[in-house]
Amino acid sequence: MSNLSGECLCGYISYSCTEEPVMAGHCQCSDCQKISGAGHIANIAVPRGSLTISGELAFHEKQAASGNTVKRGFCPQCGSHIYAENSGIPQLEFIRAGSLHNLEKFKPTMVVYASSGASWDHMDPELPKFDTMPEM
Ligand SMILES: [Zn+2]
Ligand SMILES: [Zn+2]
Repeated sequence: MSNLSGECLCGYISYSCTEEPVMAGHCQCSDCQKISGAGHIANIAVPRGSLTISGELAFHEKQAASGNTVKRGFCPQCGSHIYAENSGIPQLEFIRAGSLHNLEKFKPTMVVYASSGASWDHMDPELPKFDTMPEM
């Protein structure tokens, strides 16, 4: 039992998850850079339906480079990004690892969209890197 749980900066949004992560990794796409204000976002994918979220997320939708629509959920009070879903991968939901209560529960296994990574955003050299999103 993974018992992933976390919350936003102000605590209005909190969540817990009943399932183990399906995958976890860093994304260096330009959209993740813009919303994080940093070089990448750390994502955890969990099976749809396994997340219980307390508080009302605000959402923003944008078409990704892949052509899929990505719907991102953030706290309407403090702006912390917590959640995302991708129209091309409807069986999964994504949570942002920085919101975890226990950051060590994030076990990244890959870096995606490494082709748009910044030279100063150093990643673990042991992790496999993909120019875009690998086939799943
Ligand atoms: Zn908040
Ligand atoms: Zn990204």
